[in-house]
This record gives sequence, C-alpha cells and structure tokens, in this order.
Amino acid sequence: MVADIESFFSAKNGELKAKNLSRAVISSNREFFPLINRSGKALISFACNDYLGLSKHPLVIEAALDATKKYGAGAGAARLVTGSCPLYEELEWLLAAYHKRQTALVFGSGYLANMGVISALCGKGDLIIADKLIHACMVDGAKLSGAKFLRFRHNDMNHLDALYRNERYNYRNCLILTETVYSMDGDICARFKKPVSETNGINIWLADSAHNLEFDDSTADIISGTLSKTLGSYGGYVCGSSAVIEYLKSSARSFMFSTALPPASLAAANAGLKIIMKEPELLKAPKRNADFFKAILLEKSKNRINIIGDSHIVPIIIGNAERALAASAMLEGEGVYAPAIRPPTVPINSSRLRFSFSAVHTSVQVEKAALAVSRVLERLLPE
Ligand SMILES: *Cc1c(COP(=O)(O)O)cnc(C)c1O
Repeated sequence: MVADIESFFSAKNGELKAKNLSRAVISSNREFFPLINRSGKALISFACNDYLGLSKHPLVIEAALDATKKYGAGAGAARLVTGSCPLYEELEWLLAAYHKRQTALVFGSGYLANMGVISALCGKGDLIIADKLIHACMVDGAKLSGAKFLRFRHNDMNHLDALYRNERYNYRNCLILTETVYSMDGDICARFKKPVSETNGINIWLADSAHNLEFDDSTADIISGTLSKTLGSYGGYVCGSSAVIEYLKSSARSFMFSTALPPASLAAANAGLKIIMKEPELLKAPKRNADFFKAILLEKSKNRINIIGDSHIVPIIIGNAERALAASAMLEGEGVYAPAIRPPTVPINSSRLRFSFSAVHTSVQVEKAALAVSRVLERLLPE
C-alpha cells in the first residue's frame, strides 16, 4: 500500500482524540488580564504564569517600546556572531545579583536554556539523577546529553540517595536535577545535601527556578530560569560561577546557534527585575491569593478534597483526562478558566485543573473561582 501523509497523521490525530490527549490552540485575548476573552466569553483566567502581572506593567511596556525604537524589532543573528545588544549586559548583571551568583547567561527561552546547559554539562559516561516531576525541557536535555539518566520518586530524597549510592561509582561526573517550585504540583523542593563526590569526578546540582517566587535557591550550584513567567517578558537564563558560565558560552549549542532575543524582550525583563528588586514584597501576593482560595475551597468541600502544594500554584487532581477536561469545561461555564493538565505533562491518572495565582487577581475574583470549583467538584465527585 502506498503511504499517504494526510491519512497517516489523520489516524494519529484520531488516536489522540480517542484518548482525550489531543490538544487545541484556542485564541484568547489577554487585553484585560486577569480577565481574558476566549471563544467570545469573558473569563477570569488562572492559566497564566504572569505571577505579578508584569507583562502589563506600564514601566515594562514602556521599556519594551523604547528598546524597539532604539535597537529595532529583531537581533539579526546569534550573540556570538553579531555581538551582544548592550541591554544583555545589564540583564545578566541583574539576574546574577538577584540569584546571588557570580554571573548569568541569557538564552532564547527557558526551554533552550535547560536543553543547552544540561547537554553541555554532561555526556556519555556521566550520570544524571533527576526528580520524577522535572519539566520536559530538562528531560529532553538529559536525553540529548547521552548520559545515563535515572529518576527518583518526586521529592523522595532517600530514593535519590539510594540511586546515587548504587550507581555513582560507575560514572565520571554526576548531575542532579530538581526544580525549586514544581510547576504542576506547586510544591517545593525537599531539603537535601548534595553528596560529596568520592571519585575523581564532580557532582553538580542544577535547580530550575522557573516558578520560584520566595524559595531560597542559594545552595544549588546552577540556577536556571525564565524571563517569561514572573518577569512578564520572554527568554531564559542560567546563573552560576564564572568558569561554568564561560564554558557554556562555547559549548551550549542552543546558545551558540540560535538568534539573540529581540531588544524589547531584554528591556522588558530588565524593567521587571528592577520592579521586583525594589519591591520584593510583591512576590508574596500570589501565594496569599492561593491560600485564600484553598481556605474557601476546603471549607466549602468540608475537607473532602485533598489539595497538594504549598505555593501560588494549586493543582486540583481529578484523575483521568476525560474528567479533567469535563471539569475545565464546567468551570468555563461558571466564568472561570483553569486548564485541564493531562499526560504527558503530568503522570497518567493524575490529570488535574491547575490554578496559577497572580498578584493581580482580586480577592473577589479568587472567591468567585473557589466557589465555582466547589460547585464543579460537587457535580463531579461521587458522594
Ligand atoms: C515554563 C518552564 C520552562 C520553560 O521556560 P520557557 O521560557 O517558557 O521556555 C522551564 N522549566 C520549567 C519548570 C517551566 O515551567
């Protein structure tokens, strides 16, 4: 039989739909965030990682406009080729200061940063041990590196320790991967002490801080992060010691071979960082909203639901993908948007509604969402 591209992929799409794992890109207007307009309906959005609302902050927008006028809309080439826009110098200085590290390197996105850094730091003959729930881009970086790749149960540092003790001696260097605040469970990296290497090789701990607002990340060797969430802009970065960052400039392929960020993104991130560094108490507001939401929900549900996490990210675990989609659709009917997160983003049978709380949600909006969720769960959960 002659293979035909359209029918081959139509069949693939059909398989995904049958498993409730097909995804659609839906137009949604953030002009009045945290209100959005989606399919003609005004909804309160809890889907966005703009945790401080900085993407809409007047100073951030003005900085982006000014940079575009001065330096242009695009960068033209990779930084190693054309040279770096002057705005990078300030941004990398601010990022290093913010994370209390010697220096920083900005990448095209958080995804590119983790992929490039992990695959540059280790290779065949090295060992990577990672938390089961690390982000897809760290998994991709680990696979790309060619190193032996092992996973420990989420936040189970005894399991990490056991894998380390059983396997470490077989490999040269060891890279441990965690997040500081986990993106889908909203919980915080358990405390652990990086093991001291007893071989000639080194041990490195890389922590991804993409969702970090308040966690103290000072003990990790390398911090990765994004300009695209709390900072309201676009791009990614790593912070660490000078020699490591210098090495990455000549070895992280996603840095070397990808065009520099648009000046507007750099200027917006700079402006966002300055706002946070001047008013660090802003970072407490999203979790205050999350705590208020959880308190109402627990009271309404008479403690029948189990809410995990201890941050500004609140997952409500539903179970299978079909029910999670139904819950999200019911919630939309109530004027609230929280996405159904399904595999492969989360493990099978842990599909969920994920609420991201922002400083710009009002308490009225948070209360409205909590009451809507409790009604939806009432309809969804058996007695
Ligand atoms: C979003 C995210 C990334 C990717 O960052 P982008 O800048 O969006 O590419 C990396 N790690 C984690 C944990 C994330 O949530």
